[in-house]
Amino acid sequence: MTNVCSSRAAAAPAPAPLERYLTLQTGLDLLDQGLSIFDRDLRLVAWNKAYVRLLDFPEEMVYLGAPFESFIGYNARRGEYGPGDPDALVAERVAAARTFATHEIERVRPDGRVLRIRGEPVPGHGFVTLYLDVTEQRRAERIIRDHAAELEARVAARTSALQRSEERMRLIMDSIPALVAYFDRRRVYEYLNRGYRDWFLVDTARPECASAKRFLGESVYAVVKPHVLRALAGETRSFEYELFTHEGQRRAVRTSLVPDHGPDGSVAGCFELTFDITEEKRSQALLARAHKLESLGHLTGGLAHDFNNILTVVIGNLAALADERPADPALPEYVEPALEAARRGADLVRGLLSFARRQPLQAAAVHVGALVETVARLVRRSLPETLRLDVDVGDAALWTWIDATLLEQALLNLVLNARDACGADGRISLRARAAHIDATVAAPLQLSAGDCVRIEVEDTGSGMDEYTLAHLFEPFFTTKAPGRGTGLGMAVVYGFIKQSGGAIDVRSAPGRGTTVTVWLPAAEPPAPDAGPDEAGTGVPRAADRGLALLVDDDAQVRRAIRRSLLELGYVVLEADSGAEALKLLANTPGITLLLSDVVLGGEIDGSAVAQAARTQGKAGAVVLMSGNAPGDLPRLAGIPLLTKPFTSEQLGRAIEEGTPS
Ligand code: ADP
Ligand code: MG
Repeated sequence: MTNVCSSRAAAAPAPAPLERYLTLQTGLDLLDQGLSIFDRDLRLVAWNKAYVRLLDFPEEMVYLGAPFESFIGYNARRGEYGPGDPDALVAERVAAARTFATHEIERVRPDGRVLRIRGEPVPGHGFVTLYLDVTEQRRAERIIRDHAAELEARVAARTSALQRSEERMRLIMDSIPALVAYFDRRRVYEYLNRGYRDWFLVDTARPECASAKRFLGESVYAVVKPHVLRALAGETRSFEYELFTHEGQRRAVRTSLVPDHGPDGSVAGCFELTFDITEEKRSQALLARAHKLESLGHLTGGLAHDFNNILTVVIGNLAALADERPADPALPEYVEPALEAARRGADLVRGLLSFARRQPLQAAAVHVGALVETVARLVRRSLPETLRLDVDVGDAALWTWIDATLLEQALLNLVLNARDACGADGRISLRARAAHIDATVAAPLQLSAGDCVRIEVEDTGSGMDEYTLAHLFEPFFTTKAPGRGTGLGMAVVYGFIKQSGGAIDVRSAPGRGTTVTVWLPAAEPPAPDAGPDEAGTGVPRAADRGLALLVDDDAQVRRAIRRSLLELGYVVLEADSGAEALKLLANTPGITLLLSDVVLGGEIDGSAVAQAARTQGKAGAVVLMSGNAPGDLPRLAGIPLLTKPFTSEQLGRAIEEGTPS
């Protein structure tokens, strides 16, 4: 017994059931998870503190034998199961509990906490339910999920921003006035901007198919290739050359090649940037040419001035000699040819003086449109019928301050050059327009920016090669056969336009015709009381004195005298022979003045024309003129004889004298 007792006393005594129960309950209460056990009648048999805490039940509700339904009802009423009829919600849950099936759900409580609820049946006895607060876990998961979504959204935004910026980049690349490309080290293009399509019709959507050799042509490619090879060897290159667009236009360009180094330092490819420098080159050439012509002008100007003086002495003395000995047989043999040659020399010198801008100008407000139309009318007669002459002067009033006669002469020169370039057929267009010239265009032309009148003479003729273009304004430069061209035309035009404050520019290429552009500074129209005729002819006029018939076989002389007549207020009709003059006299009503040279080529001389005018009573005033001294010629009664050259005033006085009273 003792043994038994002593042996019992040696082992630890087993705890009493109550003590065990309390220990167990204490252990359960230490758990984070909530626990409840309902028996098969759905009455509460066990629970822990976490159960009460997590589900927030009032203490008095939780007791041994408390019905399952009381908890469910309490929950339903406080909205734990969401909206709906509480009785129905309870009935549904109680029915589910009675099945004693394993279940696991997650419930979000109205305060936002999330409970994971797992139910396990205890077969034959009821069921155990475990409650776990997973709020923090879910929140962390949600944060991670949100972050991931945000990241995804950000990546998507970045991608689309990247796409947009790539599109924008392409747009920029396509709109910059340059050719931009990238090719890899095998010289296969990876990128070509729109310039390549515009210039060479390359399909820029498939850069890898583009071949520089093909779109540049063999000879241009041969110039470019060595630079490409050196760039691919790691050298930055910049070089200038000329190429042709698909339309056959020649362009001067500057290309830069910049090697693209990969991460390992080797050359992965090359950026290619090509600028059109045609206009830049042209501007440089224009300025250089202007400077060259200016110094040439200084040189010739001084020389021409001295020569003019020399020739004046030569001509004066030879003329005096001829006057003194009119009957000397040596006169026609020696003196007259010398005089003739000296006069030709004087003509050339006049051209040079004009080129050197040392010509006296008689500037006035001129209506350019009317003047251009006059030139067209004058020149039409000397053009072959097959050659078309188009005139377009718009309808704006274009005024400039200039010597009208010399401008007429200059435009005539340009049209005659165009005619020579066209041959028998083709088209010449004469245009005049108001224009605004900005600083970039004005600078190389040495013009001031602002409003101006632009006159263009365009032809479809032979065009000019570069050499001709570079030299055409130089005095005596001509490509025409001796006797056909003096090479002074363009020089005179250049000097005159420059002296008048304007500019001239020529664009031409062999086989592509020529466009000569003249800019003249715009001027105010004359005051309205200056008389309506000014707008009509482009030449200011004192008064309208009617129609004058001017007869002289020398066109140069006619031109000079026409100016005086216009100044005096006449509209001028011209004839170059006695016969033509008689015809005009007979057929033109309203001639108020006949002004004729005495000596005319042909059978009928000036005296005969004057006589006819007088006897027919056709012209009001009749005046004769002559290059010789007045003493040599028979005088006609009441008809004054003017000695050339004469001034407008002298002409005016002679007209008065020649008007029958
Ligand atoms: P000229 O007409 O006496 O030869 P210019 O000074 O008028 O002298 O012209 C000089 C040269 O310029 C001409 O010989 C010609 O080669 C060239 N030229 C001028 N105008 C034209 C044009 N419209 N088309 C082609 N060539 C031209
Ligand atoms: Mg000419």
